[in-house]
Amino acid sequence: MKRKHIRKHPNLYRIYSFFRWKRCCKCGQEFRRERGWRCLDVPIRGHCYTEYYLCRTCAPDYETANKYFLNRDWSLPLNPEPPQSCS
Ligand SMILES: [Zn+2]
Repeated sequence: MKRKHIRKHPNLYRIYSFFRWKRCCKCGQEFRRERGWRCLDVPIRGHCYTEYYLCRTCAPDYETANKYFLNRDWSLPLNPEPPQSCS
């Protein structure tokens, strides 16, 4: 039996943001009351983590969101501001 190994991001969640606006790190637009993706970038040392969000327009399915977060394609020109961080 064979299968193609798919690397999965360990901290990728599907979210539904009801109250707070989340900024998509690809298109830069904020979304609320819409489904989206949340990714936690947890460093090996330290407690601080960075949160990234993707809207459903940029990542309509899990595979797209997973690929985007794994490749860490943050430095797109569409996103002039750095993503939210707890520091
Ligand atoms: Zn987007």
